[in-house]
Amino acid sequence: MTEHRVAHRVLVLNSGSSSLKYQLLDMRDSSRLAAGLVERIGEHTSRLVHTLFVDGAERRERTGPIGDHDAALKAVADELAADGLGLDSPELAAIGHRVVHGGRQFTEPTVVDDAVLAEIERLIPVAPLHNPANLTGIRTARALRPDLPQVAVFDTAFHTTMPESAARYAIDVETADAHRIRRYGFHGTSHAYVSRRTAALLGKEPSEVNVIVLHLGNGASASAVRGGVCVDTSMGLTPLEGLVMGTRSGDIDPAVVFHLKRVAGMATDEIDDLLNKRSGLVGLCGDNDMREIRRRIDEGDRAAQLAFDIYVHRLKKYIGAYYAVLGRVDALVFTAGVGENAAPVREAAVAGLEQLGLVVDGGLNSARDGGERLISPPGARVAVAVVPTDEELEIATQTYALVHGKLATVCAVPRAPDGARPRTRP
Ligand code: AMP
Repeated sequence: MTEHRVAHRVLVLNSGSSSLKYQLLDMRDSSRLAAGLVERIGEHTSRLVHTLFVDGAERRERTGPIGDHDAALKAVADELAADGLGLDSPELAAIGHRVVHGGRQFTEPTVVDDAVLAEIERLIPVAPLHNPANLTGIRTARALRPDLPQVAVFDTAFHTTMPESAARYAIDVETADAHRIRRYGFHGTSHAYVSRRTAALLGKEPSEVNVIVLHLGNGASASAVRGGVCVDTSMGLTPLEGLVMGTRSGDIDPAVVFHLKRVAGMATDEIDDLLNKRSGLVGLCGDNDMREIRRRIDEGDRAAQLAFDIYVHRLKKYIGAYYAVLGRVDALVFTAGVGENAAPVREAAVAGLEQLGLVVDGGLNSARDGGERLISPPGARVAVAVVPTDEELEIATQTYALVHGKLATVCAVPRAPDGARPRTRP
């Protein structure tokens, strides 16, 4: 038997500018063996939190300076080795890397070589915050295990099927093309996983169903998926477009930017900071956590109520828009931190849409259940569902499938919810 046949583990790495998140999975049953996070890389107060899930969970934490991503990955490798899960194990099949921006060219997970690295680097101007960190993670992992397939899984890939009518902005074509300005979309691994799991929940193949996915986390995006293929999504050139988010404005008249420059005298970076970090729910009411916003609403807080209403109004607009784009909708599905947990958001987003066949059953909606479930009444024309997302499992699944050459047929099995799942942004 070759080494590849016995190799069944995949390490998933999600590298941020000063953080490194990881999960080690056993792809025979999609179970998680270990997971963790290194944060504040490059500072004196770096922290590594590692959890082993085999034989009952064990959590370890250590603090102290971790100078760079190289040192961070070595520290992670040491933790895994201490658990008998070392990165030198022949059971490790590949390392899967989350890469935020794959432009138009990366439509599928891709084994990394020098040419792929150069392409990801070329995309830095359209993803200045994310791609440099993702590249550092890949280079570090490659140096540690040069013999192992390193696979890049792109947040944008699922959306590369959008038709030009959805992907192009209505601006001068030459200018747009010269600067690669178009709608790329993000959260693609989540939209891919959740739309596929929704089809399974309905007992159908992805090719048989049309689904609207609402990924509502701190970052939030909607997508319209026809027969397993994305035909529109709400994020654009960057993750700023679309829904109201925790700290991002989502859709806004672009002339607001000129106004802030000309009339308010703000610099470009200040406006960038305002729209990405001081807008959305936090800009409207000072809080971006939906739990806190609901608590304040219960106390009669008007700013919190207005923030909630604006959030829900935008959601409704996208549900209506994507209903029209798809023509026929089989399911509306909620996922991510808000989508999975905030029953009042789900109820308000669907309220008044009975004519579209969209109804939520109050009891099912408010039931405390962390798993995949329908919240529409039996026999409803359109299924309304909650499907917990799992971006790391999707990255591992795509990575493993690529290494074993069977991408088209793969369908990840969801894991039991345990509440310890690290999240990825946008
Ligand atoms: P994510 O980016 O997917 O991790 O989502 C994070 C967001 O989910 C938080 O900012 C909260 O607004 C929201 N969230 C998490 N748990 C709950 C909950 N139990 N109820 C309402 N909102 C929640």
